[in-house]
Amino acid sequence: MGRCVSTPSNAQIVTYGTLGDDRETCCNCDGSGTVSEPTEDFGEDDVECPDCDGAGYIEAFFDFEDDVIEPFREHLRELFPSASPCSEWLGREDHAVAENCHAYFGISEYCGMVAYWAVPKENENGYANLANRWLDGITSKFEAAFGTMQRVGRFSNGGAIYRAKDGGPVGADNLDGPVVIGGNLCTG
Ligand SMILES: [Zn+2]
Repeated sequence: MGRCVSTPSNAQIVTYGTLGDDRETCCNCDGSGTVSEPTEDFGEDDVECPDCDGAGYIEAFFDFEDDVIEPFREHLRELFPSASPCSEWLGREDHAVAENCHAYFGISEYCGMVAYWAVPKENENGYANLANRWLDGITSKFEAAFGTMQRVGRFSNGGAIYRAKDGGPVGADNLDGPVVIGGNLCTG
């Protein structure tokens, strides 16, 4: 069974994105991953850069709370003034960070993939119809505002296929473009 970014099973709206590019070019090797070292016979040898272990970049400090959750809350509040911050776990992996009387809003993250979702709240009688209708009404706004990708399919191993919302084609020739195949981001 594959592992993938988690979303609540009753989420009515889900969009996907990736965490921003939080890599900084290594200044010791200028991103090349190698540095020259003098050899015993007074020549030079290219060796793996010790600062970045040959990667050419260094992972920048990234704070999920400050860099992802807070901007999401603020943006939600601009779009839907009734949404106020909360911190509620819906199940083990799904963290709701804002709510109004109709819905919980949350973010899930797994290996750099982020899912933005909205879950209808049931009223005390167990009816969610009003919440469903409210979410129907905001779906296009929510989808336009959050995430850059939508899930278009799933592999039998649990990996997922995503397509860029701007219409990037799904296809094997586009794997390093906007299409993200689950193998990298959702491990089988
Ligand atoms: Zn380096």
